[in-house]
Amino acid sequence: MKTLAYGFPKLGEKREFKNLLENYWKGRISDVEFVEGMNSLRDWMASLYREHVDLFPSNELSYYDFVLDMAITLGVIPKRFGEYEGLRTYFEMARGKEALEMTKYFNTNYHYLVPELEERVFEPIRNIPLEEYTYFKEKGLDTLPKVIAPYTFLKLSKIPTENGFRRIESLRELEEYLKALLPVYEEILESLKVAGAKVVLMEDPALCLDVEDWAWDLVHDAYDVLSEHLDIYVITYYDSVSDYEKFVDLPVRALGLDFVSNGENLENLKRYGFPEGKILIAGVINGRNVWRANLKEKLTLVEELSKVAVEVVISNSCPLFHLPVSVQPEDSLPEGLKERLSFAKEKLWELRVLKLAFEGDPESLKEVERSAELSKRPFGVREDVRRRVASLREEDFQRELPYVERVKLQREILKLPVLPTTTIGSFPQTEEVKKKRADYVSGKVTEGEYKDFIRKQIERVVRLQEELRLDVLVHGEFERTDMVEFFAQKLEGVATTKHGWVLSYGSRVYRPPIVYGDVFRPSPMTVEEISYAQSLTKKPVKGMLTGPVTILNWSYHREDISKEEIAYQIALALLDEVKDLEKAGIRIIQIDEPAFREGAPLKKRDWPKYFGWAVKAFRLCSKASPQVQVHTHMCYSEFNEVIDYIHQMDFDVVSIEASRSKGEILSAFESFKNWDRQIGIGVYDVHSPVVPTKEQIRAVLERAMRVLPVELLWVNPDCGLKTRRWEEVIPSLKNMVEVARELREKVSQR
Ligand code: GLN
Ligand code: ZN
Repeated sequence: MKTLAYGFPKLGEKREFKNLLENYWKGRISDVEFVEGMNSLRDWMASLYREHVDLFPSNELSYYDFVLDMAITLGVIPKRFGEYEGLRTYFEMARGKEALEMTKYFNTNYHYLVPELEERVFEPIRNIPLEEYTYFKEKGLDTLPKVIAPYTFLKLSKIPTENGFRRIESLRELEEYLKALLPVYEEILESLKVAGAKVVLMEDPALCLDVEDWAWDLVHDAYDVLSEHLDIYVITYYDSVSDYEKFVDLPVRALGLDFVSNGENLENLKRYGFPEGKILIAGVINGRNVWRANLKEKLTLVEELSKVAVEVVISNSCPLFHLPVSVQPEDSLPEGLKERLSFAKEKLWELRVLKLAFEGDPESLKEVERSAELSKRPFGVREDVRRRVASLREEDFQRELPYVERVKLQREILKLPVLPTTTIGSFPQTEEVKKKRADYVSGKVTEGEYKDFIRKQIERVVRLQEELRLDVLVHGEFERTDMVEFFAQKLEGVATTKHGWVLSYGSRVYRPPIVYGDVFRPSPMTVEEISYAQSLTKKPVKGMLTGPVTILNWSYHREDISKEEIAYQIALALLDEVKDLEKAGIRIIQIDEPAFREGAPLKKRDWPKYFGWAVKAFRLCSKASPQVQVHTHMCYSEFNEVIDYIHQMDFDVVSIEASRSKGEILSAFESFKNWDRQIGIGVYDVHSPVVPTKEQIRAVLERAMRVLPVELLWVNPDCGLKTRRWEEVIPSLKNMVEVARELREKVSQR
């Protein structure tokens, strides 16, 4: 039995990748130093692989994003970037003024750059897979060159329309693009063959989405053509393949299936068998979650698989870059947690142990037993939390009064003008703020000094908002590092790491918390700052919380209870906070759910279940008294498909990102019959440093006013302002408030 691993986090033990990239961008290191640094990361990854597994890929160290690398390889470079001039053009495409759009890779929190297929002509620019293969080959290492399969590449890309871009939709489109694309793939495969490769590893996770029958036929034909050149190993991940029989029928040498996401692949394998003469790449070690595997169960699984498939290669279930590099440096985790965790490095170790155990190695068999023991022992159990969730009843998910009644009470209390103005929550997190927090964490600054500092920031931002004449104020979120980590640090049953960094895109990293036990709130989390802000002004200050679905989706979660149950536990902790804010006299509470949609499963058939509990979790935590106005915020614009679920959340006000795609967003509300909730369409893009003009802001609002009744509209930027500078924020908000006041005037004269 052989082992294969792929997708190891390129970040390095000490975030070397991030440092190299950022130093290079700042001009602190030369091109040569940059490439040398990256090469040592390449070598480091390869040495870890070699130590643990039999087969591993090359072409895994992209300087920014692996989808961008594939686009460059295939010559997909929009005209606006001109001639390709090496790294300069590369980073222009990644992060220049007119960079490619960024979006989430399937249902993960990794963002890739969306290739723009301006024309249906592909002319290879740089053969990156070949360069990378050769790099290792020259060191005497035979790797599996990894490339994104044509179908997945096309599914990740967008094609031009009269007024923008969209995804490939029809049979004809897919057929034509594949036809144009395949010769380039053939060239790449041929070049790899000449260089000595015998196998190419093709990632085709798009086969786990909903795939039409005609698309399967085209994929089949494509692999037919490509198989002429090299042996092809196809891997799929993040879900079961959409059609097992069609998948295993593909004319390739090896087929990779995910046996972790759900049980469907296994069921199908047992029902339909596995073709003789093909290799099964069995994704059995979870590449997305941080738990040490119960290797005993895994061993049974592998044995089962080996009865059906003649040749089995065991592997991780999906790329490992969703995990931090190693558990080892974590020294302040809750007692007993560390031994239960397995990050990327430890996953490689698990693969090796599993293989050795399968072959009967006594030491490894002992490890298998140990891991089974460990996963049986309950951990982080709180009976009171369990009971509280178990005793939830229908009415706990229902506010006391329907929206039409609530809105009257709220109007009475808040007395807001039409087109009320507000912001999404955070104000600039300046170097000064970050430094103070770092000093506090490292002990250079006392708790008292830090709290004082935060209070001063809050006071300043409250005064500023009053001067700007905003209607609903916020406290600015200066005390928060990250909107999820902040709450994770305050909740019991959730751990945060010190070094558990994961790439989100480019050089951007974050540390996902780990939900390891039953979750509860030992004490209030936000009341102090919010009520301080409220004490400074007569205007309403919004209480600011991160929603249960977002906390869950941006964390690693335990697997011994359902996600639904975890979501309710978090929601109950948040409900306690909502109640406390209410008691402290807070009249508006915003519960952010930017990750509400992204947790949706790959296949539409699984949506009702996911959104069913996601909606309920939100409703559970937002059960404030009818007088309290509940807001939520979501920062994406693809609303059409999910607008029914969004409406079911039963908030009073929603603010959404719309500055880059007003048309699409508004069309969703147009086609939703009787949309009755208040809504803040983001009137300018906070991701750009440019100060929006009054005309631009007015245009967005007027457009919204044509679709929605003015009584429902709020005026706000499209997301939090924490990454902006004060110099940009102040004039932007000034313009925003002026436009709102002018339009208000106009409306009242009607
Ligand atoms: N309240 C948060 C902020 O303003 C919301 C951020 C988000 O939606 N990503 O920063
Ligand atoms: Zn947002």
